[in-house]
Amino acid sequence: MDSRKTPAIGIDLGTTYSVVARLDETGRPVSLVNAEGDLLTPSVVLVEGEGAIVGKEAVKALGSEPEHVAQCAKREVGNDLFHQPLAGRNYPPEVLEAWILKKLHDDAALQVGPFRQVVITVPAYFDEVRRKATQDAGYMAGLELLDIINEPTAAAVAFGYQQGFFRPNASSREKQNILVYDLGGGTFDVTVMQLAGGTFTALATDGDVQLGGRDWDQRLVNFAAAEFQQRHGTDPRHDSVAAARLWRECEDLKRTLSARPRGLLTYEFQGLPLQLEITREQFADLTHDLLERTRFTTVQALAAAKLTWSDIQRVLLVGGSTRMPMVVDLLRQLSGREPDRSVSADEAVAHGAALHAGILLAKSAGKRPKFTVRNVNSHSLGVVANDPATQRERNAIVIPRNSPLPIAARRRFKTSKTGQNSILVRIVEGESASPDACTPIGRCVVRELPADLAAGTPIEVAFRYEANGRLTITVKVSGTDRKLTHELTRASGLGDAERNAWRRRIAGDDIAADEL
Ligand code: AMP
Repeated sequence: MDSRKTPAIGIDLGTTYSVVARLDETGRPVSLVNAEGDLLTPSVVLVEGEGAIVGKEAVKALGSEPEHVAQCAKREVGNDLFHQPLAGRNYPPEVLEAWILKKLHDDAALQVGPFRQVVITVPAYFDEVRRKATQDAGYMAGLELLDIINEPTAAAVAFGYQQGFFRPNASSREKQNILVYDLGGGTFDVTVMQLAGGTFTALATDGDVQLGGRDWDQRLVNFAAAEFQQRHGTDPRHDSVAAARLWRECEDLKRTLSARPRGLLTYEFQGLPLQLEITREQFADLTHDLLERTRFTTVQALAAAKLTWSDIQRVLLVGGSTRMPMVVDLLRQLSGREPDRSVSADEAVAHGAALHAGILLAKSAGKRPKFTVRNVNSHSLGVVANDPATQRERNAIVIPRNSPLPIAARRRFKTSKTGQNSILVRIVEGESASPDACTPIGRCVVRELPADLAAGTPIEVAFRYEANGRLTITVKVSGTDRKLTHELTRASGLGDAERNAWRRRIAGDDIAADEL
């Protein structure tokens, strides 16, 4: 395909909302509206027959047929199945994500013409398993992933563009350290980045994939439900339709409290009314611990970057939930400066992804890139080893978190028994010394070792981790010619046949009923 005609598309596949952006003829990122005319598409899926409806209509269906509707599938990406069956069937979360991507693609194609290549963003704190599942979602949606980049990095790229860091004389611009605080609907990420000329270097990243605006909503839901129960002796959360309606009202109240010091919740269930006035202070009290979790993670990320607040020139707020005044107050208080809200909280991530797509397309057309992005890994990678002192298994870290990528690292181990004929190398991701508390991400086996291999023979395990998150492992057994190099065989996720069958179903092709 002629690369000039290939649109540079970036997709922010959010927990609660998703956004698509492209680069216009001048190379400027612009958001695309969906078929309903909105910039934000709710990441909500209504399963209907063999197909699915995504977005506003799916949200509406929450009020009438919640058992057919999936929300926040992104929070479960990496698990085998979505927690709740939909219309009586279980779905892998990445399939639900694929339906969302398909809708985003189809709507965007109406405006920019046919395309397949995209950049998709993920929370910086996503682990290997979740990144791979997101990649699979792209594949099942019929897309070709140019790259997956981290959401805070994408936001920083959009910010850098806006600040003129990519202009021809950009290298003369001063170096800046930026802290990106990204609180979306379902995930929280914090990344410390350095911008110098056209280079974006992530110094440290941390986060929580189970913390976002949804948790703030939930606190209001719980508060209102408890009030309702006290007044009327019944809990509306036990009825799924009423619970969905209460959640919508509470999300609305939360937004009101971002704009006004107090808000009113008006709700009715089984003919019983509830009117509740809530102040911003009350809301802050109800959610204090959630905000504290983000404070803790932010301070930790700054320390991991070996910086203090005086080294940070900008605090960039990204994600819809940073509209809550309590977030702005927290960062003002922590950093001693006014947080920067100059990038659009909703669109910055998609814009950065489109800019990145533009760079990749230009590169593949032989042009010099205007900027480069250097990343770090968000989780440590290690091998499960037997600790001779305790005879217990432990996580022997090979690549510590926050290492600049790409990186190669090696570590030596020893065989435990004489005459061992194979070695199983189990790779885990996580910080804990206990392998059980880490995420298993794959394994490889070196077979057919010499029959008389002595106990204590050195084994060298080498990892190579690329910027795009691909991991290659080499295992060498000392004194033998046994050497094994391969890309990781994943511990979880869908197989090829399953992915292809889903890809056909999501595309709307007829498939045999027994294929899935
Ligand atoms: P994102 O994933 O970045 O699109 O963020 C979506 C989250 O932002 C949802 O939880 C929304 O409820 C929340 N959000 C959007 N606007 C506001 C607002 N004005 N006040 C508080 N939260 C908001």
